[in-house]
Amino acid sequence: MSDRIEGGCLCQAVRFEVPAEPLYQLLCFCSDCQVVSGSQSYASYLIPLSELKRLKGEPLGYSVQSDRGRRNTRMFCGECGSRVWAELEAGFASVNGMALDDKTAFKPSHNHRVHNAPPWCAVDTALEDLPPT
Ligand SMILES: [Zn+2]
Ligand SMILES: [Zn+2]
Repeated sequence: MSDRIEGGCLCQAVRFEVPAEPLYQLLCFCSDCQVVSGSQSYASYLIPLSELKRLKGEPLGYSVQSDRGRRNTRMFCGECGSRVWAELEAGFASVNGMALDDKTAFKPSHNHRVHNAPPWCAVDTALEDLPPT
């Protein structure tokens, strides 16, 4: 098995490569993630930013200040609008786990900001809670 895996946006204009061993695989229920992902949580495949390799295309970025006061840049394809990753000020890339070519590569290990989950959402309480950073 390769120690790197690939992913891309819906139209494939943006392609990227990441390590097969991420730091964490989070379901992030924060409000920002909910808006941009259109879901109760965002599949965050978290790696050091330096480990993210862009193979093709130049995504656009939108910078926001998180509710923790950090500047995060959420990257998306300018052609199809898909989220590809977020560049976190703390030096991490929060890659869209559902943009990986092999969807089974994303295996949630932790919940994040689970207190913000909508009431209709079934939360997997077997997952450990990653404390807010
Ligand atoms: Zn695209
Ligand atoms: Zn989030």
